[in-house]
Amino acid sequence: GRPGCECNSCFSGPDCSVRIPNCAADGQGGDPLFLEPYWKRHAAASAVVFSGWHRLSYITTDGHLKSVELDRQIRRLHRAVGNAVVDDKYLVFGTGSTHLINALVYALSPEGNAASPPASVVATVPYFAMYKSQTVMFDGREYRWDGTTAAWANNNSSRNPTRGFIEFVTSPNNPDSTLHEPILAGSSAIVDHAYYWPHLTHIPAPADEDVMLFTTSKLSGHAGSRFGYTRATEFPAACHLQARHVHNDTKADRYTPCRALRRWALVRDEKVASRAISYIEESTVGTSRETQLRVLKILKVILANLHGKEDIFAFGYDVMSSRWRRLNAVVSRSTRISLQKMPPQYCTYFNRIKEPSPAYAWVKCEWVEDDDCYETLLAAGINSLTGTVNEAGTRYTRLSLIKTQDDFDMLLERITEFVDAEKHGR
Ligand code: PMP
Repeated sequence: GRPGCECNSCFSGPDCSVRIPNCAADGQGGDPLFLEPYWKRHAAASAVVFSGWHRLSYITTDGHLKSVELDRQIRRLHRAVGNAVVDDKYLVFGTGSTHLINALVYALSPEGNAASPPASVVATVPYFAMYKSQTVMFDGREYRWDGTTAAWANNNSSRNPTRGFIEFVTSPNNPDSTLHEPILAGSSAIVDHAYYWPHLTHIPAPADEDVMLFTTSKLSGHAGSRFGYTRATEFPAACHLQARHVHNDTKADRYTPCRALRRWALVRDEKVASRAISYIEESTVGTSRETQLRVLKILKVILANLHGKEDIFAFGYDVMSSRWRRLNAVVSRSTRISLQKMPPQYCTYFNRIKEPSPAYAWVKCEWVEDDDCYETLLAAGINSLTGTVNEAGTRYTRLSLIKTQDDFDMLLERITEFVDAEKHGR
């Protein structure tokens, strides 16, 4: 049971331990509730309280649009974990990394002038569906969704040399949890490292791509706080300076010189951070200050416990590797479904070879008659996310392994029944 928690779709009662009969096991969403027990253990240390008069202003007391202390703690965390180089670059905060997907597409696109063709936004199958849905929804003159990398990598002759590619790379990938690198030579890559933390993958080396995307959703499990950030190349120094002297200015005054500076900036990399910031200013002014305060507290707890007996990554890794091991043991008896193959790998954070601990199982239906794998699992009482959303086709479907223990146990129970029924089923 989970006393005091919101119940999931298949459970009810005061501590969510009563099963709702005939409910499909929920393997669909990406809610990272596997970390809830960790935060229950650190309930007091991770709590934040603030009074009604606190943080009314758009800006912090020292004149910034984002918390300098949070910026510092994020860098400390990456340094301690060894999963990304962040020291030399600017961090742009967003309302979840979802908010930054289009901010970065916008930032990497040619500035609106009729002479340059729109950037082609692409991703490799199977890809996270939102890259396409946002690009298509916010369809601008500067960029357009242009399909998958396979079409462009294999077809150089039709590749327009003046067209710039913006390539989404997800590493580890959602849905199949493997590490990826950009495929198109010369593309501007947005490397989404939502899952690049030691509880969800091995860490071979610190990531150091020009534009990287991170989120607390999968790091600490605080998906509801809506906090993501991107490391982009240095923001012009004059804008920092200016941001410190804004107390009495109007909002328009405050931003104008930086806007002008952005127009002058000739180095393409510099534009990325400043254009991403423009996007954030235009869409939300800045990330919620309550959220920043909460995330700051959460990161401090994480940092204080690294490599100790309450290390969040050790906790998360134990949960996730055990789920993967149990699921594999069942599915390895099946000829009807299979999972992605994941070998043990050396992890620099744990300093040893680790069994896999992926966030998602990428299920393939092997029998000819099961040509819609999502439907096949649904008929067995298992809800999943069809591979058609990743352009991978109906043979594939994704199961989330990062939900609550109850969700996982129920999922495993249904998969076990499904596999056990095989010998009678065909
Ligand atoms: N990128 C990837 C690869 C994801 O899987 C997700 C969420 N499932 C996101 C970005 C968005 O996450 P959030 O907005 O919560 O940071």
